[in-house]
Amino acid sequence: MAHHCLQCGAELQTTWNEREREACPQCGWVYYPQLKLSAAGLILKNDRLLLVRRAFEPWKDCWYLPAGYVEADEDPSEAAQREVLEETGLVVRAGRLLGGYYFDDDPRGNGFLLVYECRIRDGELSLTPETREAGFFTREQLPRPMAGAGHASAILDWQTGRLEISGATIDEP
Ligand SMILES: [Zn+2]
Repeated sequence: MAHHCLQCGAELQTTWNEREREACPQCGWVYYPQLKLSAAGLILKNDRLLLVRRAFEPWKDCWYLPAGYVEADEDPSEAAQREVLEETGLVVRAGRLLGGYYFDDDPRGNGFLLVYECRIRDGELSLTPETREAGFFTREQLPRPMAGAGHASAILDWQTGRLEISGATIDEP
């Protein structure tokens, strides 16, 4: 896929500038790709973890924490709340940042997944066009396959207690 210059529109060419990079042969503008940032909600009810099953590629049919990309003008914790609502119908409040996961396995680009502890405030768990299944799972009964892009790592860290949750997290609506 060819990239084009943001300054003059010319097609970028691969050059060497400390490392291999794309640059504009006409005006010299250099393309510096950055990691994509996504935010997820880790939501527990009776010590069961909320997971959703993705309806689309990439990661079609894989289970993941409700999550999505952070908009450039959005606080990541608010992105986590927004994505949980969009994907599960649950209104949540994002609390502590529990962990971050670098990933290089997503076809949409490398990124960093932020995982926030979220507590349910309102709403009913419901399916959306993006999610074909949703449910709460115990540590012993986690469904598979799990999505990449940091999700499997985060879910397994919850399973083994490496993602610490503070206090009571039952919070029925
Ligand atoms: Zn240019």
